[in-house]
Amino acid sequence: MPWHRTGNQGEGNRLMPTRETIETILRKRLGPNLSVKGITPVSGGDMNDAFRVETTKSVWFLKMHAHAPYGFFDAEWDGLEALRTAASLLRIPHVQKAEERDGEWPAWLLMEWIHPGEPGPRTAEVLGQGLAELHRFTASAFGWQADNFIGILLQPNTRTDHWPSFWRDQRLLPQFRLAEKRNRLPSERYRRLERLMDRLDHWLDTSDAVPSLLHGDLWGGNWLVDTDGRPCLIDPAAYHGHREVDLAMTELFGGFPKTFHHAYREAYPVDPGYEERRPLYQLYYLLVHLNLFGEGYGESVDRILRRYAG
Ligand code: ADP
Repeated sequence: MPWHRTGNQGEGNRLMPTRETIETILRKRLGPNLSVKGITPVSGGDMNDAFRVETTKSVWFLKMHAHAPYGFFDAEWDGLEALRTAASLLRIPHVQKAEERDGEWPAWLLMEWIHPGEPGPRTAEVLGQGLAELHRFTASAFGWQADNFIGILLQPNTRTDHWPSFWRDQRLLPQFRLAEKRNRLPSERYRRLERLMDRLDHWLDTSDAVPSLLHGDLWGGNWLVDTDGRPCLIDPAAYHGHREVDLAMTELFGGFPKTFHHAYREAYPVDPGYEERRPLYQLYYLLVHLNLFGEGYGESVDRILRRYAG
């Protein structure tokens, strides 16, 4: 069997690949002569099993998922490529290969290993300027060429040019429906969510909204520092959306220094009223967490709902 069980959190039963599984996959896909020198589990993500894999030729970062939906790692690959096209200041890892699940073999994604380094005096500033640079990469509509994933959950991306509709129909509503299916909506939470959907146009009436390239899942665990002190972005759920979404996510769980926020605002000032809209963007991520991890996120969801649809 290529798996043994772990007690990790996440979606579905978590099965850990054995060392033999990893070696077999790498040899089968990267050449039979490949010699694996070492495999070390990497912690820090919340969805996948991750490993540092050292071969005689190179060092790789390998992510695996036993229950990945179809297209899961291709979507991440696509997002990383899009970010790299737009980024001159931030480092985005190059992907080597991705494969779908095959019977009991896991889906996996192999990319360059970023040797972790220490932040330098300019790291946080460059992170802010780099995010602003991504956000200045714009499109003619909100959405993306394909649906992708937030965590392990589907993130629909049908294109539209009306931002409040996009945020309601492609972001909040699918999580609302999923929460209903998973029994995570006590009646008061349900009613408030319904009311909020009706009023969303009022709160998000940003008629001059620009479809910016977004990272899409910018929590503190999704930026790294390499040995040159250069900030790197990983694990995107990329699409074109209002740039306030990325900013709101950086402020939800912390992990971004003050200098980052200053540098971003200096490079690309935020629009008036952002603070009023911020919780409505954070609500999406909180609903995702409610759906993935349970009621621990319920109170944070309710707090926002009381404020906007009390
Ligand atoms: P998940 O999709 O499970 O959240 P991540 O892509 O966030 O997984 O990766 C998990 C952890 O592995 C990260 O927090 C980071 O510390 C590390 N990591 C991710 N990508 C790389 C990489 N290319 N090189 C080195 N370490 C990485």
